[in-house]
Amino acid sequence: MYNEIELFFPYFSFLLGLVWGSFSNVVIVRWPKEMSIVRPGSQCPECKAPVKWYDNVPILSWITLGGKCRACGVKISYRYPLVEFLMGTLFTLAYFKFGVSWTLIEIWILLFGLVTISFIDLDHFLIPDVLSLPGIAIGLIGAFVNPERDFIPAFLGVLLGGGFLWAIAWVYYLLKKQEGLGGGDIKLLAWIGAVLSWHSIPFVILVSSIFGSLVGITLAFRTKGGMKTVIPYGPFLALAALIYIFAGEEISMLYLRLFFPWMGSQ
Ligand SMILES: [Zn+2]
Repeated sequence: MYNEIELFFPYFSFLLGLVWGSFSNVVIVRWPKEMSIVRPGSQCPECKAPVKWYDNVPILSWITLGGKCRACGVKISYRYPLVEFLMGTLFTLAYFKFGVSWTLIEIWILLFGLVTISFIDLDHFLIPDVLSLPGIAIGLIGAFVNPERDFIPAFLGVLLGGGFLWAIAWVYYLLKKQEGLGGGDIKLLAWIGAVLSWHSIPFVILVSSIFGSLVGITLAFRTKGGMKTVIPYGPFLALAALIYIFAGEEISMLYLRLFFPWMGSQ
């Protein structure tokens, strides 16, 4: 009996991800405009026509409508179905990684935050406190309540994640007299530390700065903006956290085997 129910979990995870992806789209579009995320209901960004429920089905509606508003025909960004599909896929991968567990619920919440924050940061160079601060609180409460996690490593994760970036931002400010890292990045890394514990922080900092510098250098050459080209750091933190969630252990083992073969042998 249990096994038959289990067959549905991957589909359930995907559908749940689609629904949260749809909600994520609402937050991405409305939060920066200081609009309510509940009212009014979904509407066309151009003509404001209310979107009927049958035109609001994640991914499918965008495809059947040919990526256009039914009322005015304006193009609807492919980002809507992309965010939904991404969330559905990540939720399903998390199910396969963590199984039905408390940790899965905690990871789902973090995944929602990482995706939503990345797109808001890409658009506006901002990471909303309304997402990151409750995220840190929920992450710490989760570590306390969830029997699969311990509180101290999560608490250290917040301190290390928040503290490390804060120190860098402070030094940068002393040297350059201008802000390089946003406070939002600091709170996002603290959230990541709360859920993935302090062990994840060195990995996330290293991987995000590698990707960030590669993209930053490429953009600096392309736009001739020199080294002052500003890129949002949030999406790189999110990407590094995703890699850690799904492949962190494997990559750590590989690293040990490559550089410390005598340690990985037993
Ligand atoms: Zn319209």
